Amino acid sequence: MSILHKRPLLKAEIDKVAEVAGYLWQKGWAERNGGNITVNVTEWADAAMQALPAISEPRPIGKTLPHLKGCWFYCKGTGKRMRDLARDPMGNGSLIRITPDCAHYEIVADAPVAPTSELPSHLAVHDYLLAKGSTYRASLHTHPIELVALTHSRKWLEKDAATRMLWSMIPETKAFCPRGLGMVPYMLPSSVDLADATIKAIDEDYDVVMWEKHGVFAVDVSVMDAFDQVDVLNKAAQIYIAAKNMGFEPEGMSDAQLKEMTAAFGLPK
Ligand SMILES: [Zn+2]
Repeated sequence: MSILHKRPLLKAEIDKVAEVAGYLWQKGWAERNGGNITVNVTEWADAAMQALPAISEPRPIGKTLPHLKGCWFYCKGTGKRMRDLARDPMGNGSLIRITPDCAHYEIVADAPVAPTSELPSHLAVHDYLLAKGSTYRASLHTHPIELVALTHSRKWLEKDAATRMLWSMIPETKAFCPRGLGMVPYMLPSSVDLADATIKAIDEDYDVVMWEKHGVFAVDVSVMDAFDQVDVLNKAAQIYIAAKNMGFEPEGMSDAQLKEMTAAFGLPK
């Protein structure tokens, strides 16, 4: 019987992951096994679930993450496809429990699906969020085409250059992605340096961080909210590109109009 049986709240969270995985595939942001999702589901792990035996031996995380003691995560499986996860989240991902030493995890799920190879960096982000007292529980990595394309130009890699342009394309961008788009220069995928630089950018108060020539890493209260922020930003990039394709530089909203939005919607400055 599935671990999700008679756990409707936990199942609802996993269903959100499956729904988002389907959107990522449909948008063309998740080729092959591209992208990752991890969600901290600790608040939906009841006493009976806590008592379940692990179906794997404890495996090292590769880091000690003191704020994750006893936490539970849903993680996309290593080498698994988003389009398959959308149909079958427990066959293409698993639930893991962090052991009391905060340095290992064990799989407690329907099948022993090994979690993503990006697990150490995702868990380091969750550890950082919990240490800060954040309510954010989800992290998402994906390859949004137009946002990645922007990072092939030095101009948009300057701090907040892309943020300013994207906000100015359509008012909702600033309203729904009020912290803008952080930029992390190119680093080797899966590297410790990339994970550290991502946490530093999140600490500078970005919810969505762009990895140069690679993809985005987004955090929010739920995976749906993280997806929405990326979707809003990529939409703005598409409007910019559509105007360029029509043969002109888009005018963009003025500084005064952006200021007016910030005040009217009570957005962070
Ligand atoms: Zn990637």
